[in-house]
Amino acid sequence: MNSPATQVERKVAAFLSRPLRLLIGGEWVAAASGEIIPFDDPSSGRVIGAAAAAGATDVDHAVAAARSAFERGPWSTMPAADRTRLMLRLADAIEANADELAYLECVDTGNPLRTVRHVDVAGAAERLRYNAGWPSKIFGDTLLSPPRAGVFACSIREPLGVVGAITPWNAPLFMAVGKIALAVAAGCTVVLKPAELTPASAVRLGELVMQAGFPPGVINIVTGLGPVAGQALVDHPGVDKIAFTGSSVVGRSILAGAARNMKRVTLELGGKSPVIIFPDADLEAAVRAVAMGIVFKTGQFCAAGTRILVHRAVLEPVLGYIAAGRTAGAEVACGGAQIEGDGYFVQPTVLANTSAEMSVMREEIFGPVLCVTSFDDREGLEEVIALANDSDYGLTARVWTRNLATAHHLIRRLRAGSVNINGAGGAGSEGLPFGGVKHSGVGREGGHEGVESYTEIKTVTIGY
Ligand code: NAP
Ligand code: MG
Repeated sequence: MNSPATQVERKVAAFLSRPLRLLIGGEWVAAASGEIIPFDDPSSGRVIGAAAAAGATDVDHAVAAARSAFERGPWSTMPAADRTRLMLRLADAIEANADELAYLECVDTGNPLRTVRHVDVAGAAERLRYNAGWPSKIFGDTLLSPPRAGVFACSIREPLGVVGAITPWNAPLFMAVGKIALAVAAGCTVVLKPAELTPASAVRLGELVMQAGFPPGVINIVTGLGPVAGQALVDHPGVDKIAFTGSSVVGRSILAGAARNMKRVTLELGGKSPVIIFPDADLEAAVRAVAMGIVFKTGQFCAAGTRILVHRAVLEPVLGYIAAGRTAGAEVACGGAQIEGDGYFVQPTVLANTSAEMSVMREEIFGPVLCVTSFDDREGLEEVIALANDSDYGLTARVWTRNLATAHHLIRRLRAGSVNINGAGGAGSEGLPFGGVKHSGVGREGGHEGVESYTEIKTVTIGY
């Protein structure tokens, strides 16, 4: 038997058969301590590999390699077109190895293969291609009328320097590539610390980075523990920026840590995103989107719509749809239990009649759990807005209505980094900024804001 599937499986098995190493200055090395950390397949609970456990010494070496590639070139001084070409080459390499990367990510994260292949891996290549356009399009301003004659005044953008990128386990490749793409497009160099639970795809990405021809030290990868390797990056005086995606709890500690040495930060954190459904909405589409929204990535998705605010007139149809979905054998259930057997599974769960003060309504559960609250006409728009905004988080808000006035009113009033109307989420993905307000984060990824947050602006005045 030599079917493509088994070929991919064999490649992945070979890749996982040795402990994964650190990529520092273009070399693959074990941790200085020699320590490794095993990682598992959550669908079976079985250990599938092990990765080097980087300590402060390893992080120090990686930062030195990144600093050297930045200061002494060639990265920050390389012509924009050459950086673009390398980024496009990496995107091609990801695509050429997409099935293998998807399978590797699938067994490491427990995400369905199809989601990983068509969302994460395809999205990673897309992110690189979008951002590959930036190196030649980062500008400063020039004053037409300087303060006095004989002065030339302008601003120039420069790469920030060395970026410490720290990423979560729910979309490891997509997150790693997102941060790398922005950093290298801006002319920065990177030390990436993937999540301890899911280091595999980042290490494979490192191989593709070297294969694509990135100069040594531009992209370094250190696997290891958050409080050890991650913290060492946060504390390191040679790191100019921490780009973090993960929980709000760790995000707050990173913000505090970065304050000690005035590092720049972008923080992409958790959410508890509302979905508001008005009676005039396309209910079938809304219900389908709500159901998909909570089972996509098994609910382990930062922007998951977990607080459903539904007009009383449509609450019954919604619950009816869910019941009908269950009878029809769809993967929507009222659930509530852990699923026995191998691996870590819980049933998709719908909690009805929830109210604002309950912990299930306030905290990010990061699992397939939906809270449903109803409102009626007496409460009016203001109350619905207050209900939606009654959260520490502010990542994504969704609204379903055919009434344009209602939609525009809510767009302005909802406190969230993104507002999606009628299921149009993700439409501008790379071209527009993504991020959160309140405890959902600081800064944005995507669009020009994304790449600019990896630059510093310098004001230049020249007398003549
Ligand atoms: P997490 O526990 O916050 O971990 C994220 C990363 O931070 C991991 O690499 C972790 O390492 C590291 N870390 C932990 N403690 C650290 C410390 N003291 N200093 C430096 N780094 C440290 O988050 P997670 O559970 O992996 O991911 C789920 C969370 O990510 C959810 O809250 C989700 O909403 C959020 N998320 C947000 C977005 C977005 O774009 N807004 C996207 C995806 C996910 P270890 O793995 O070794 O602990
Ligand atoms: Mg794993």
